[in-house]
Amino acid sequence: MTSGRTWKLYAAAMALAIAGYQLIPENGWWESTWEVAIGYAGTAAILLGVRRLPLADRLPWWCFAAGVFSNATGIGVAIYSDQVLGWSDMPTPSDPFFLGLYPACALGLALLIRRRDRRRNWTAMVDATTITTGLGLLAWVYVIHPAAQDADMSVLGRTVQVAYPVGDLLLLAMMTRLLRTGGSRGAPFWWITGSLAAFLIGDTAWVLLGNLGDFGVHLEEVLWFRRGLDEVFLVAFTLFGIAALHSGARELGVTAAPQPPRLGKLQLVVLTTTSLIAPAILATQLYHGGVKDGLAIVIGCTALFLLVVTRMAQLVRQVELQTRQVRELSRTDELTGLPNRRAWNDELPRALEHARRDGAPLAVALLDLDHFKKFNDSYGHPAGDRLLKEASAAWHGALRQGDTVARWGGEEFVVLLPGADADVAREVLSRALARTPLGQTFSAGVAQWDGTETSEDLLQRADAGLYAAKAAGRNQIAAASSREHMRSSA
Ligand code: GH3
Ligand code: MG
Ligand code: MG
Repeated sequence: MTSGRTWKLYAAAMALAIAGYQLIPENGWWESTWEVAIGYAGTAAILLGVRRLPLADRLPWWCFAAGVFSNATGIGVAIYSDQVLGWSDMPTPSDPFFLGLYPACALGLALLIRRRDRRRNWTAMVDATTITTGLGLLAWVYVIHPAAQDADMSVLGRTVQVAYPVGDLLLLAMMTRLLRTGGSRGAPFWWITGSLAAFLIGDTAWVLLGNLGDFGVHLEEVLWFRRGLDEVFLVAFTLFGIAALHSGARELGVTAAPQPPRLGKLQLVVLTTTSLIAPAILATQLYHGGVKDGLAIVIGCTALFLLVVTRMAQLVRQVELQTRQVRELSRTDELTGLPNRRAWNDELPRALEHARRDGAPLAVALLDLDHFKKFNDSYGHPAGDRLLKEASAAWHGALRQGDTVARWGGEEFVVLLPGADADVAREVLSRALARTPLGQTFSAGVAQWDGTETSEDLLQRADAGLYAAKAAGRNQIAAASSREHMRSSA
């Protein structure tokens, strides 16, 4: 039987079993047995499904299986301690089993997240922490704090009662973190998410029912409603099993390529809403005549504020980094890796300014490969590209420290030689000429800055020198004539 059919058969069987739960006799033993059976079926489905996975990928699933097994066992222990031992006051022997779900699933999720995001993802962590802090404050004020103060209960009973919402918060944190991982989002990803959501919804519903009970509304006494609530947990058990049986389970643990952090519309809405929980609770308590949880609200507000600022700092840093990268790209020639014309145009006026201040000489050279068209025609354009790369690297090696070579365009390059007069510049360029690979040559014009001319004038003179070198037969370096000379000959 192929796995493509296994998960469908399992899902169909469980859908019937879960629907059938509404129809069984109204008897605690019947109900519990039914629930435990579905929980154990989920455990078995997980264990069976992950046998197809590589050994290293199975660990998170074993944790999920342990969590589901423990929780389902709790249902059996609860009916036994209630009906046989007459023990129904919290804590009962079933609580450790019920609570086992949380650490087991949280560990499984942590392992899964680690596999999907090998690198630490700080923005995802900040997002998950923000959501958990906001909802954690809500849980503290309305569930955890009241439970911790319940005078009808032993200290152990109160601790256990508090452990449930804390466990839910732990699962919520891991679930939001999982949702922010990169990597495959096939069906199993969403089934696991759905299962976690079902556990959280089920637990929240019980809390809400408890609060309704204070108003004399006892929905849990309505049979179909109570069973419907049980079914939420049965669905949670089953979704883990379906996820494990699905062939896509394999991709779930595959490491994702690191992605730049995004902030989508939904994320923004969720983060904004959870950040506003603290002031909302404050407003509610003020409206109802007094702030009872001032300290918790202050702590929650402060934490949320710091988290939002951290997130903002992360985004700003990301923008700065990208700006630097874009700027770097826009100033670099793709083929040779040299500074391009844009970078050169920024650099030259700055170099002239330095030379003016220091009273030092400065020379520029414009060089152009000889008969490069012929080279391209003979050896092909890719070989021409390689020559451009190798030649520019070779020339770069021949320059003095502090000299720069940039690609002017095509097979033309410019060289900046701060502190060099025309003679030194010619010497340096002769060295470069001798190093041109594959027996190729270039012609160059060298111009020494006269101390007053603009960068455009200086380059124009170097260009005239280049023209002269070409006219004189190529493979040589010509010094440019002075501005006066150029003007008189024009
Ligand atoms: P001259 O000695 O007069 O400079 O002759 P030349 O053939 O080098 O000069 P010309 O300006 O006639 O031709 C330049 C050639 O450079 C033409 C063009 O195809 C080639 N070229 C420009 N940029 C690139 C490039 O990025 N890669 C390659 N492979 N060729 C390029
Ligand atoms: Mg040319
Ligand atoms: Mg040329």
